[in-house]
Amino acid sequence: MNLDLRAINQCVRCGSCRTFCPVFEESGWESANTRGRIMILKALTCGLQPDSQVLDSLNTCTTCGICTENCPAGVNPPEMIESARRQLVSLGKMTRQQADLSRNILASGNTFAESSDRLSWLTDRSLLTKKADYVYFVGCMNSYRYTETAANTFALLHRFGATILPKELCCGSPLLRTGFDARRFVDENCRQIAETGARTVITGCAGCYTTLKKSYPQDFRVQSVPEFLALHISQLDIAQLDLTVTYHDPCHLGRHNQIYEQPRRVIEAICRLKEMKTSGKAARCCGGGGGVRAGYKDLSLQMARKRLEDVPDGVDYIVASCPLCIRNLRDAGAGEKVIDLVDLVAMAVR
Ligand code: SF4
Ligand code: SF4
Repeated sequence: MNLDLRAINQCVRCGSCRTFCPVFEESGWESANTRGRIMILKALTCGLQPDSQVLDSLNTCTTCGICTENCPAGVNPPEMIESARRQLVSLGKMTRQQADLSRNILASGNTFAESSDRLSWLTDRSLLTKKADYVYFVGCMNSYRYTETAANTFALLHRFGATILPKELCCGSPLLRTGFDARRFVDENCRQIAETGARTVITGCAGCYTTLKKSYPQDFRVQSVPEFLALHISQLDIAQLDLTVTYHDPCHLGRHNQIYEQPRRVIEAICRLKEMKTSGKAARCCGGGGGVRAGYKDLSLQMARKRLEDVPDGVDYIVASCPLCIRNLRDAGAGEKVIDLVDLVAMAVR
């Protein structure tokens, strides 16, 4: 395999990442931590056959990026791991779950293989305009699973002139994270965005955000909902709520894109914020990203349960701004106590 040996050799095998990798914490196997994965990458360049154990090692990385943040040698493991996944997929080497996920997305245009209308939650279609300053990119999770959050987000963004793509497709994140090509999705979403004339695309999903920002042509500005709300919260008529909440930093907003301060500013405009045991750059991953929730659900939920141990006492809600984190934390036992930042804002808007 033709992997970047220079990047691989940059790892000095110090093992510092063993302290941080959330997967290693659960499994305890060297092959399930950052250093072990990098050693496997090196072995692949020397002819190691990618059997099912190799695939499991590389595909259980949530791409959380906490290893990148703490690596003294400046290694970027998730980038290397994603690159290896791409090469393996191009050679036809993938797990059954990877194959199922990509087949479903390619056939249906969404991660749930849903054939129903993506905009079924939108009661008044006349609110959609052909031309707009902003596009609200809804994403698969909120389109099909958290439709109330989608409706709350659009209600807020529409006040500022946002529309929605008439035939939005999956942003491509699950395909790209697990090694597949997503060009068809990127091209079609871009075509529709261009037709609206919007210069800014806003999304409430951390996975969509990273993908729109890093894998789409730079023809428009990408903003996360927390960034947009932090800029515009003073223009909303907000009631103070007698609540204490904590905030979970989604890896793909925080470590991957340095969006730490904006969601906190929004929360503090509404109610009290009490930080989790680990937060900001040091925030523990929810365990859902990088295709791990889809491919290794038990492991993913184990990590989410560990994340819930970081929740401080006496909070009314755990707020996040990523539907995948919300789903994983809910399923791990926190239930309806986990809410989207937008749903908190919707409670406060008069
Ligand atoms: S990835 Fe970084 S922290 Fe981990 S073993 Fe290699 S050099 Fe050390
Ligand atoms: S990105 Fe996260 S899950 Fe992947 S190797 Fe690094 S610490 Fe482990």
